[in-house]
Amino acid sequence: MENRYSRQQLFTPIGERGQQKIRQKHLLIVGVGALGSAVAEQMTRAGVGKITLIDRDYVEWSNLQRQQLYTEQTAIQKMPKAMAAKERLNQMNADVDVHAVMDDANVETLTSLIQQVDVIIDGTDNFDTRFIINDLAQKYKIPWIYGSCVGSYGATYTILPQETPCLHCLLQAVPNTGMTCDTVGIISPAVQLVASYQVAEALKLLTENVAALRGTFLTFDVWQNRHFEMKMDAAKNDVCPSCGDEPIYPHLAYAEQTKTAVLCGRDAVQIRPAQKREYDLQKMAQLLEGQGKIQSNPFLLSCQLEEHRVVIFRDGRVLIHGTNNIQTAKTIYYRLLG
Ligand SMILES: [Zn+2]
Repeated sequence: MENRYSRQQLFTPIGERGQQKIRQKHLLIVGVGALGSAVAEQMTRAGVGKITLIDRDYVEWSNLQRQQLYTEQTAIQKMPKAMAAKERLNQMNADVDVHAVMDDANVETLTSLIQQVDVIIDGTDNFDTRFIINDLAQKYKIPWIYGSCVGSYGATYTILPQETPCLHCLLQAVPNTGMTCDTVGIISPAVQLVASYQVAEALKLLTENVAALRGTFLTFDVWQNRHFEMKMDAAKNDVCPSCGDEPIYPHLAYAEQTKTAVLCGRDAVQIRPAQKREYDLQKMAQLLEGQGKIQSNPFLLSCQLEEHRVVIFRDGRVLIHGTNNIQTAKTIYYRLLG
């Protein structure tokens, strides 16, 4: 049989040696939605030794427009994304050891997965999880590649522990734009571009071509035809609690994590964000228009989705009615609020 990696090996910076390195490496992909799917497919075809996927969600019809590992069949069956992804990836390249984890990506699960990996790819849809990844990556000295996209916009940055600024240096607190793929939509070219930039950086890391890393925070808008790159070195903060001289990894502490509680007898789950957020309920109501029937008063906003009613309080607390399942509630929460 012809060598399936021949074209990749002909590419001089990788070569046969680079291919051997790729073969020995372990990649963790956190979240296999749109970004995670696109990255997982490219990395599987590239022949990475082992890929671990973690995702708590199942496949839905509205995923099919951009989440390339899923089919109508997996959506009809409501297959867990991690399992559906593994099956599809195995069909593409049986040499790759795909380890699928159907679970919430939190401090506990990520700590157990992260320690044997060489690179972490961000395929998440929320900043709570990204800040956990950021702290763990610093603690265990693992490079991770941030990626996000919404609408026609995308952003990506490669974070190297002890070298580049970390996500905490760049953002300091969890941003709260209220814009998510479920409120303002998303088109697949935005996803594919971010994923491709992430894969290019991952290939450089896995083949130890560190000098080729981009070194900039990159953003683009494929609809507005904008592309912007910025060096971020100056943002590195010596007293950063995540990557500074005396790190305390604040997002690994219990108090900093998003809290969930099942409200007994009420068929509802309460979610309290890690950091207090002050929501502008009027703006929120505009963003959620089209999602369901909205009612609001000065204190809270209620949005009736198909079978769930979501109540958002001004201080960021959210009640999700119509479920006793924390995973279902979290999925709805991050979809609406990012
Ligand atoms: Zn930092």
